[in-house]
Order: sequence, then structure tokens, then C-alpha cells
Amino acid sequence: MELIIYGAIFIIGTLLGSFFTLAVYRIPLKQDITHERSYCPKCNHRLEFLDLIPILSYLFLGGKCRYCKEKIRPRYLLLEVFSGLLFLLFAISLKINIFNLEINKLVYLVFGMFYISTLFIIGGIEKENHLVSIPVLVFGLIIEVLYIIYLYIVNISIYKYVIYLFLILTILILNKSLLNKKEKQSYVLKILALCFYLVIGTKEEIAIASIIITLLLVAIKQIINKLKQRKEKTNINKQIPIGFYLCFANIAALIIYNYIVY
Ligand SMILES: [Zn+2]
Repeated sequence: MELIIYGAIFIIGTLLGSFFTLAVYRIPLKQDITHERSYCPKCNHRLEFLDLIPILSYLFLGGKCRYCKEKIRPRYLLLEVFSGLLFLLFAISLKINIFNLEINKLVYLVFGMFYISTLFIIGGIEKENHLVSIPVLVFGLIIEVLYIIYLYIVNISIYKYVIYLFLILTILILNKSLLNKKEKQSYVLKILALCFYLVIGTKEEIAIASIIITLLLVAIKQIINKLKQRKEKTNINKQIPIGFYLCFANIAALIIYNYIVY
């Protein structure tokens, strides 16, 4: 019985994975992500239902577009598998017992899946475009507010969440009004807002662990870049996707934390 639930979550994870690819591609271009069907970027043919089944479509079509035979990059397949596995690990980490269902855990599972989805999309967009997507962050905040309202209803103290929410709103308003034209400061503010978003979505200690892992990764990346520069004697000034590291360090820290605590 448990296997069926975990199997279902894996499948949902792969479906979400293919949605993330689409969202990461379309949101920065301000294209519709919910109504318009996917299409092949080469021949623009609309994809039919059979082309959109995660993993299986890729395998049956031999990694090619059915209509123009253009090769599809294997990273889409890998991302779907990776996403399915990550959601599966998250569900297992909560150790849900269906014979003794705890409603709080179930609500947390649903909230957590939404939360991880927003991190996937924010992280993906940051990596591709070096920008922290405010619309996705705001969507995630709305989900967090709904979860906080739930916590309030079941009598769990929410005062610290209210403070964090207030801080995020202050940062976002500051970003909108004062520094709209200064790109660097705006980036720092958005990363700061993202950090508080992680604090609300997980716990303080998980968020802090994610920030420390991110700092380490940034330092390592800097050193590698410096070494490369010395070797090739060219000036590569590559932007480091801090938000991307933050999002994925947070997902990993959350799952590991759950395994230890539950
Ligand atoms: Zn095609």
C-alpha cells in the first residue's frame, strides 16, 4: 500500500519535473505557463498527450521529436528522473504511515511539495538568467501564508513567521522603490528576500545550513574560476548563481533534516 503512494509521488515528481523545464524557459520571457501546450522549439509542432509523458515519451521516441526528428537533449530526461527521485525522497523522509495518518504530516507533505517546486523554478531561472524571479517568489509566499494560516488554526505559534513575512515584504518594497535602477543592489536584496523565504519554508537551522553550504560552494567556485583564469590567461568574469545554490542546498538540507528528525 505504501508502495502505491510512493509510486504516485514519484510519478507526480516526474510530471512536475517536465513542468519546471517549461516554467524556467517561459517565465523570464513572460509567456503563459498554464494554458498553452508545449511545442517543439525546432519545428514548433504542438506536442500531443503521448509526447508529454515524462521519461516514457523520451524513451519510446528514442530521444527525438516525433515530427521533425530533432534530437531532444537528454538533460530533460535527467531532470524528470531527478525531480521524481527528489520528491520521492522527501515523501519517504516524512515516514508517512497510512494506517495511522497524521493530518499535520499530510498537510506538510502537500505544502512541502509546493515549496520544493518553487525552489526548483526559482533556482532554475537563476541559473539560466542570473535573476531571482519575483513573481515565483510571491507565488511561493502566498502558499507559505496559506500554510501559516493552517498552523494558526491548529494552534501552533506563528508570531515568528509573521515577523519574517514582514521582513520579506519590507525588502521587496525597498527593492521596488529605492533601488530599482541599481542592478547589483537589487540582486543582493532579492537574495536576502530568498533567504527569509527559506527560513519560513523550512526551519531556521535548515535555512542557516543552506546558507553556509551556499557560501562554501560560492568560495569553491571562485577558487576554480581563479585557477582557470590563471591557466588560460583570459578574464572570465562569470556570475555565480547564488540563488541556484541556495535553493538546492535548501532542498537537500530539508530532506536530510527530516530523515534525522522523523
Ligand atoms: Zn520538432
